[in-house]
Amino acid sequence: MADREAPPHGLRQAIALHDYTTWKVGGPAQWFAEPGSQDELIALAAWAVAEGLVFRCIGAGSNLLIADAGLEGLTLCNRRLQGSRLDGSEGWVEAEAGEPIPTLARKAARAGLHGLEWSVGIPGTVGGAVVMNAGAQGGCTAEWLHSVRVIDPARPEQPFTLGAEELDFAYRHSRLQQEPLLVLSALFRLEAGHDPTAITARTSGNLHSRTSTQPYQQPSCGSVFRNPEPNKAGQLIEALGLKGLSVGGAQVSTLHANFIVNTGGARAEEIDSLVRQVQEQVHRAHAIVLHPEVKRLGFRQPAWEPPGP
Ligand SMILES: Cc1cc2nc3c(=O)[nH]c(=O)nc-3n(C[C@H](O)[C@H](O)[C@H](O)COP(=O)(O)OP(=O)(O)OC[C@H]3O[C@@H](n4cnc5c(N)ncnc54)[C@H](O)[C@@H]3O)c2cc1C
Repeated sequence: MADREAPPHGLRQAIALHDYTTWKVGGPAQWFAEPGSQDELIALAAWAVAEGLVFRCIGAGSNLLIADAGLEGLTLCNRRLQGSRLDGSEGWVEAEAGEPIPTLARKAARAGLHGLEWSVGIPGTVGGAVVMNAGAQGGCTAEWLHSVRVIDPARPEQPFTLGAEELDFAYRHSRLQQEPLLVLSALFRLEAGHDPTAITARTSGNLHSRTSTQPYQQPSCGSVFRNPEPNKAGQLIEALGLKGLSVGGAQVSTLHANFIVNTGGARAEEIDSLVRQVQEQVHRAHAIVLHPEVKRLGFRQPAWEPPGP
């Protein structure tokens, strides 16, 4: 490294990623940084390209299972890339990729903007919500997103805009799950002119109904599996008596069967193994394939796929 350009400010090595995921698991990142501005993020991405390193962005790590062995290359965490601008009269809301989506929901409610009340219980960032097309209680990101500002890792210095219609949104899916584009910010068009008190009350009510029916006090990644319509993954798992099934510190929640919780000291490998066991049992009993909604990073074993018929 001596005769190369100095690495950008804020770059660190061998950072334990269990502090950056809501499951509280994950080994070390070879290189790690938490950029505080879009310019810093772009400089870090450009450095990784120049060094020939793989890199990826994570948000709040609330939909991620990171392997115990950790991640090679550069991991950029967007948690510090926060901020938003709300136009209470027209409904335009622009948010940085690292803005927590519950924070944005509350700001929108206070401004009398309707549209994000469903998102208050989702402990992720705006960037993660766009990539995952996060949704709850009848709403989803795709419904209210206008466009995103992104960079292509091959040309990090040239950010560009993609309209929501270009993102191939579907249930918990977007084109950004296949293409390695990094989200810098997102522009939403909400509905202006509502009563802030009513929107705030609806937002708080949504949070209460979530926290009273789901295990928010234990480390988890929310729902592990997509719902195999018309069935509900949680109901299929519960009907097989799998609540409480454990592998080491990983346990199928006794409160909500589509959650796997870390009861203390779980390893990513144990969560991975429990996911496979649940998939296999549901497939054996119902011939239904449960597809995980959670993203898996850094594993050598093949992706989660249940055995064929
Ligand atoms: C208690 C709990 C409840 C939950 N409830 C819900 C729910 O009701 N509905 C729901 O949809 N989800 C839910 N989730 C899952 C999760 O919160 C969402 O998927 C959320 O949108 C993920 O955002 P994140 O910032 O944590 O993304 P991460 O988990 O950090 O990343 C998810 C994916 O997005 C990519 N990514 C993140 N940021 C960027 C960026 N800026 N640019 C490019 N790629 C990026 C990552 O590489 C990864 O592939 C829940 C999770 C928990 C822990």
